[in-house]
Amino acid sequence: MGQLQERYKSYRIPQEAMAKGIYPYFRAIEGKQGTEVEMGGHKVLMFGSNAYTGLTGDQRIIDKAKAALDKYGSGCAGSRFLNGTLDLHIQLEKEIAEFIGKDDCLCFSTGFSVNQGVIPALLGKDDFVICDDRDHASIVDGRRLAFAKQLHYKHNDMEDLERVLQKLPAEAIKLIVVDGVFSMEGDLAKLPEIVKLKHKYNCSIMVDEAHGVGVFGRQGRGVCDHFGLTDEVDLIMGTFSKSLASIGGFITADADTINWLRHTCRTYIFSASNTPAATAAAMEALHILQQEPERIEKLWKVTRYALKRFREEGFEIGDTESPIIPLYVRDTDKTFLVTALAFNAGVFINPVIPPACAPQDTLVRYALMATHTEEQVERSVIALKKIFVEQGIIK
Ligand code: PMP
Repeated sequence: MGQLQERYKSYRIPQEAMAKGIYPYFRAIEGKQGTEVEMGGHKVLMFGSNAYTGLTGDQRIIDKAKAALDKYGSGCAGSRFLNGTLDLHIQLEKEIAEFIGKDDCLCFSTGFSVNQGVIPALLGKDDFVICDDRDHASIVDGRRLAFAKQLHYKHNDMEDLERVLQKLPAEAIKLIVVDGVFSMEGDLAKLPEIVKLKHKYNCSIMVDEAHGVGVFGRQGRGVCDHFGLTDEVDLIMGTFSKSLASIGGFITADADTINWLRHTCRTYIFSASNTPAATAAAMEALHILQQEPERIEKLWKVTRYALKRFREEGFEIGDTESPIIPLYVRDTDKTFLVTALAFNAGVFINPVIPPACAPQDTLVRYALMATHTEEQVERSVIALKKIFVEQGIIK
């Protein structure tokens, strides 16, 4: 047996969960994403998606993606820096910059690679990067790759953030990087207070709008827009993989910062550009988002209904203010068991265990789309209530 095989043969979680028949990952969907999907011939209600606008199966988007495939081919065979730039990429960057309300924009092939590349490209060894301790893994990886000194503060704890900032030199570059909407718990960053601290301690701010775009703000411009703080936030990133029904990501900022990133950001320069089909799909989704504000109204209506029903039934749902509803289980094994029982009962939800959360905070993540009906929500609440009561999680 090889060294690595020896080390990894007893990797605990998959083996134990598989032996108990509750391994929850990598289930294949046979068909389009939507509010109901088929997995292994079993129909389930999909409450584990990030497609908040419900646009992934939209025929207009599919048609634009097909037309781009016909016109440009299946890939770009190179990075944006050299042979991989299409007029489509440039147009999408222009439209995203206008939509978000910043001077300029760069589009990447994934949202993950935006955070992974932008943070280290911006910061040198005399600088500081300061993160909320529940920031997404891509921010954590970007922070780790930066030569800057790395600091973090307790989740949404503004006193702790101030304690960190107080100790730093006034003239040093200090970048606070934060999720606008926290992806597992659904709560929002305290941006108004973070902006006050920015001015008090002379910092810069970068906000991750992965779960904010398509959900918050005017026509889904995100959490910065929701708080009226777009101008106060120095860099805004987002992804195409959630509300924008595609894959890819973006960073927006002032023209000079974007120009620097365009020529130095390693995940932008040394990675192939996004496919024509994915780029065209994101662009069409962006158009639909702006043309059909009623989608976001529907999303919020069904979200309010679900929040009310989970509260009425006695679920512990934390401080969520978004279509992401954490149903706390607070036990890793039970979290897998609940996910499996829910799946058998026809409800797909996502288990969240360490390192995505603290060990005592395990939960199942229930997320809404604009296309869900109240009847679908009701069916899922009843099924989940039965499971949570039987497992002794709630009364
Ligand atoms: N940031 C946050 C907050 C996320 O939740 C995610 C994806 N889950 C990403 C970045 C990465 O985006 P993508 O999946 O588009 O690469």
